[in-house]
Amino acid sequence: MSIIVENVTKIYGKQKALNDVSFTAKPGEIVGFLGPNGAGKSTMMKIITGFLPANSGSVSVCGLEVSSNQIEIKKKIGYLAEQNPLYYDMYVREYLAFIAGIFKINDSKNKINEIIELVGLSLEQNKKIGALSKGYKQRVGLAHALLHDPEVLILDEPTTGLDPNQLEEIRNLIKKIGAKKTVMLSTHIMQEVEAICDRVIIINRGEIVANDSTKNLSSIFNQKSVIIVEFKKELSIKRIASIKGITKVEAIDSKSFKVYHNPEVEVRNELFNLAISENNSVETLHKETINLEGIFKELTSKN
Ligand code: ADP
Ligand code: MG
Repeated sequence: MSIIVENVTKIYGKQKALNDVSFTAKPGEIVGFLGPNGAGKSTMMKIITGFLPANSGSVSVCGLEVSSNQIEIKKKIGYLAEQNPLYYDMYVREYLAFIAGIFKINDSKNKINEIIELVGLSLEQNKKIGALSKGYKQRVGLAHALLHDPEVLILDEPTTGLDPNQLEEIRNLIKKIGAKKTVMLSTHIMQEVEAICDRVIIINRGEIVANDSTKNLSSIFNQKSVIIVEFKKELSIKRIASIKGITKVEAIDSKSFKVYHNPEVEVRNELFNLAISENNSVETLHKETINLEGIFKELTSKN
């Protein structure tokens, strides 16, 4: 695993910003960290990168425990902070040379050329950072994060404030970079995650409320009517799936199932009838309330 976060809690004064957060990210994955403002995204990212200590729990990156390997960890991670701290009076190339010096990068001239080319700064490389548009400033931040060739990239809201064209370009750039690295990016925009990420971790009020592939999560939003049914005895999943209006069935165990259905179709009676016809009975049945939907609304209404 590239990133392992275990039971992290962070308290600012009296406020719990993160409550028992756990997740992992695999090598080569692009993980979206999705949540409304104040959810705890930046706090989690600062803890992963070693800029902030957690109150409890542990984080390891590329096999190194972050809190006890502060210097080593910075070599493994490229970090684009939310407030991208650039020196506006420096020229792009001069700034990257300065960063290369900090990381003691060998053959820095060639490396800088390579990164300038990769992030699309060729035409801007001799300009002052302060003179660049927001999209190009963001590219300088990405170049900074990539210069020492880290295995893991942590990007905090990398597309906030970009116009639609810049947005598209930066998203493509992240996807391109993500082919070779583990990328975790935060955003409060659902579509962003759908456009770039393999997996989504949704955080709300400091707690993880969902962690699934982008594909699965999108399908949950699309088929949001879910029933949890438990039968008295074992029952074939195929029999349940054959009921009209049921779009997907997941076995929880041999007697319990998670049933997704078309919201227009009432399938509860059919489930009872199926049980009777199989000489079985329904022990419990309840509609699952997907609170993701509410969070999703909150998220999407803010963009
Ligand atoms: P996000 O990045 O998802 O918008 P943050 O991690 O920035 O969320 O913030 C999570 C919560 O912690 C918010 O309620 C925020 O006000 C609070 N918070 C963040 N940084 C500090 C700080 N340095 N001191 C006190 N509270 C903070
Ligand atoms: Mg933030």
